Amino acid sequence: MSPHAELVSRLRAAWLSGKTRPMEYRVAQLEALGRFLDEKQQDILEATAADMRKATQLDSAFIRKDPYGVVLIIGPWNYPINLLLVPLIGAIAAGNCVVMKPSEITRNVERLVAETLPRYLDEDCFAVVTAGVEETTRLLENKFDYIFFTGSPSVGRIVMTAAAKHLTPVTLELGGKNPCYVSDSCNVQNVARRVAWGRFFNAGQTCVAPDYVLCSAEMQEKLLPALREAITEFYGPNPRESPDFGRIVGDRQFQRVQALLHSGHTAIGGQTDAEERYIAPTVLVEVQQNDPVMQEEIFGPILPILTVDSVDDAIAFINARERPLVLYVFSSRKEVVNRVLERTSSGGFCANDTIMHMTIPSLPFGGIGQSGLGSYHGRSSFETFSHQRSALLRGAGRETLNTPRYPPYAPHRLPLLRAATETKRRATCLLL
Ligand code: NAD
Repeated sequence: MSPHAELVSRLRAAWLSGKTRPMEYRVAQLEALGRFLDEKQQDILEATAADMRKATQLDSAFIRKDPYGVVLIIGPWNYPINLLLVPLIGAIAAGNCVVMKPSEITRNVERLVAETLPRYLDEDCFAVVTAGVEETTRLLENKFDYIFFTGSPSVGRIVMTAAAKHLTPVTLELGGKNPCYVSDSCNVQNVARRVAWGRFFNAGQTCVAPDYVLCSAEMQEKLLPALREAITEFYGPNPRESPDFGRIVGDRQFQRVQALLHSGHTAIGGQTDAEERYIAPTVLVEVQQNDPVMQEEIFGPILPILTVDSVDDAIAFINARERPLVLYVFSSRKEVVNRVLERTSSGGFCANDTIMHMTIPSLPFGGIGQSGLGSYHGRSSFETFSHQRSALLRGAGRETLNTPRYPPYAPHRLPLLRAATETKRRATCLLL
């Protein structure tokens, strides 16, 4: 067992119990920390003096949002224009130079962007690089000042490792399995339409799609006919003929998604056509936790339903897995929604709908843990591509005011020094 493993698992158990979440708890802990500093003040002074021999206002202190410098934006194929240009807007707004690397899988968009976008922007500052895996590996050897990556968690790891060589900060917008808990108290038809829309939009190739449904066995019985109805309403009796139902992006991806159809029992859909890379909107039931469809992000038009006995079962199921990019809950009972919100952790959260949370510009969008690092959209895009540079502009005179901080540290100066270093509740400036 690695050192401190027991300690870490003890703290994780406390974290999962939810005890650190109430505001009163946090206030109590901060007050306890304040007491420590008050009560141990003398000991702290003596200890720091023993270790390091250590002993303002009227100035202008501010935060300057500085551009990072040269930024690399790497995009995926599933929304190839949007996921390249939305980060680009933030990077330009913040004042950076940008190298863009679109996905090589959507080659038409890649070509279009590479050939035309630079004509619209200042070519001194903005460039598009077309690159597959090998060339992107070489591209990442360069020192960038910020890397913004959207893609899979496995490639996210590769990008972060490359960034670490230069200590380059990163935003990682990754994927994963987004749970969707449907409680017994809800309007089943509305739920079915909103879930089917989110799952089957872009043939399921959406990072924020609900990946699987958790509900009671009774709810599953009601949900299945409602999902069937919603699918027919959206895509007609044969979704293959619908102009509104998409195809899987490539043969490799088609093979991967098709293989996931063999989990559980097919309740709706299941038809495929390799030539067209068509997979029908599909709902799977009797799915087990260890089935292949539950081992990876589906990223295709397949919706497994797993049954749970209660909201607490659903919470335990979710918490036993990696933290998702978004967590969906359907319930007409506020206490159910709040219970899931309070007892789980995810990049984003959306009650009684799917995908819509990411359309609101005032909400930062991003993952946590395995689903990513950092966020963007709206103002948050500007913040992401800006370094918060703390600046203090002092006057060159009034030197006598500085006397208390200079050695030698005579005891009679101590009260003055204390007053100068005390952190007032609203204070913005410290001496040390
Ligand atoms: P991917 O990780 O395979 O590729 C993303 C980008 O990384 C591409 O530009 C690709 O050329 C590059 N790349 C691939 N392998 C690389 C390597 N070894 N070294 C360096 N670069 C490499 O992802 P994808 O298949 O294009 O997209 C699907 C994934 O993206 C899904 O997991 C999905 O959930 C996720 N995604 C997340 C978001 C989000 O906003 N969080 C949005 C869309 C997609």
